[in-house]
Amino acid sequence: MAGRAPVATVMRRLAKAIDGLDEPAVEKIAKEQQEDPFQVLIATMLSAQTKDAVTAAASSRLFRVARTPRTMARLTHAQIRQLIYPVSFYRNKAVHVKETCRQIVDRFGGRVPSTMEDLLTLPGVGRKTANLVLILAHRSEDNICVDTHVHRISNRLGWVQTTTPDETEQALYRVSPRRWWPIINLYLVTWGQNVCRPVYPLCPQCVLADVCPKIGVTKVGKLVQPA
Ligand code: SF4
Repeated sequence: MAGRAPVATVMRRLAKAIDGLDEPAVEKIAKEQQEDPFQVLIATMLSAQTKDAVTAAASSRLFRVARTPRTMARLTHAQIRQLIYPVSFYRNKAVHVKETCRQIVDRFGGRVPSTMEDLLTLPGVGRKTANLVLILAHRSEDNICVDTHVHRISNRLGWVQTTTPDETEQALYRVSPRRWWPIINLYLVTWGQNVCRPVYPLCPQCVLADVCPKIGVTKVGKLVQPA
């Protein structure tokens, strides 16, 4: 099948299909912490290229010791490294976390900024992190957060033809109705972690199989028989 899977059909089916599946770590942290912008920001920074279970454990160790930008800025790089290990790039992330906390205190009066422009001035904060903070913590309905799962699946579904997540984000603003923007990330990340995996996606089991053009998919995973 060529062409593009209809966005509304995909989103409605995924709304049902993800029910009961594990949510991404940052979404869980956001819910548990009443959408606290600071914890969403730090957890998202830790989550880059890191498995969800590792992100969740590292975030919880770090937040047990410091829950505010002020207290976290007082930790040493070594303390932060120790608390967040083994997230990927923990050395760089420790430096970025401390510096980001310092700047939130010094430049923004201890509050996480609520605009894309300001968020992007913080060290280690890119569009993915900024969009997620705006959506989950500042309840923005004007942003789409594109990570590797959203980028990959949007291309497989034929929604976009892009080579980078930033291009995908801009293309998605054009091809998807606004009402879906804030939840595209939750739905596609959950689907990407469980079914539309990077390699060997489980197309035979996928609720989108009849509408998805499966662009770029060459090998699919084996059907898992229920025990
Ligand atoms: S698992 Fe296969 S059918 Fe489902 S969205 Fe991914 S590529 Fe499409």
